[in-house]
Amino acid sequence: MTRVSGTPAAGESTVATQTGMRARPRLACILCGTPGDVLHTGLIDRLSASPSPGVWSIRRCVDPRCGLLWLDPAPLEQELYKAYESYYTHAGRGPNKGVIARMMGAIKRGYLANRFGYREGVGPLARIAGGVPWLYPGRPPELDLSVMWLHALHKGTLLDVGAGSGWLVEHMNSLGWDARGLDFDPVAVRNARAGGLNFHQGSVFDQGFPEATFDAVTLCHSIEHVPDPVALARECLRIVRPGGQLVMATPNTDSLGHRIFGEYWLHLDSPRHLHLFNRKSMASMITMAGASQFRIFSTCRDANGVFVASRAIRRHGRFDVNASRSALDKLAGRAAQAAEILALVANPWWGEDLVAIVDKPGGPGS
Ligand SMILES: [Zn+2]
Repeated sequence: MTRVSGTPAAGESTVATQTGMRARPRLACILCGTPGDVLHTGLIDRLSASPSPGVWSIRRCVDPRCGLLWLDPAPLEQELYKAYESYYTHAGRGPNKGVIARMMGAIKRGYLANRFGYREGVGPLARIAGGVPWLYPGRPPELDLSVMWLHALHKGTLLDVGAGSGWLVEHMNSLGWDARGLDFDPVAVRNARAGGLNFHQGSVFDQGFPEATFDAVTLCHSIEHVPDPVALARECLRIVRPGGQLVMATPNTDSLGHRIFGEYWLHLDSPRHLHLFNRKSMASMITMAGASQFRIFSTCRDANGVFVASRAIRRHGRFDVNASRSALDKLAGRAAQAAEILALVANPWWGEDLVAIVDKPGGPGS
């Protein structure tokens, strides 16, 4: 994730959230200015090995045309680092070289060749094997996210904002992209560079990228972490070339998981998730960022993981993301995901993930 620079607005006071993370109350929606109702309260950090300080609420914009959720109070920018000191996505990457992994790799390459045109070095057998993921509808969205829905036709330079461990940068490079990552966390950046990846440190605003620098910019579960998502999306669109794409994936507050688990839903992730979207608030946010050509959809990706984690939070008050899951948990997770897949037939907006693909107008041939 990435920080956006800023200071408390005039007239806003700051409060200390019990154990030292300074924050300011936030009562109105940043998108439409409507006041928010308290939806969940008494939330603490439930995911870090050593939880960050503070007790938090989630407010919901009462305008049904918007419905944005946000963290209240909002941590001050200069305090945000405290929420990431033992955050799980910023650890280094481990090797994965077993026989099963190689076989899964071939299936994945076949799938990506068939669906997104990444055909280089993919033989006919792998192309046939690439049909396997369709046998279980939970798999395709996982593989789609592994390329952030970017077709090989768009191949070129890519910036992954909030790149964390760098898995996406590494994967896109392996498919022929010239990808680099950006993260504010110096530990994440150091780990990624040690793994040979091109990484920038800081916020996207600090980098001074010229307009139209990248063929694609990706925000994979990053936009929910920033104080000003509209400003971030606008800046990302500025540095995408005409004809290029900005692709975002983020938790979906209309999801079945949020409906079932409520305050225990994994993706509330206080105090790291500052804004949480549904399709309407996402569309407003993108429009305010200056884009008009986009599509938004929800997917069941990681509904299994969300179910297992949310259930653990409901039972134990926290979830250890680094603990290995039992076979029973894995099975229960997949069963929950299968249920969500069926539910999506009734309502396509119940998926755990919300995806937005924004096209920047212009470019060759237009
Ligand atoms: Zn609103």
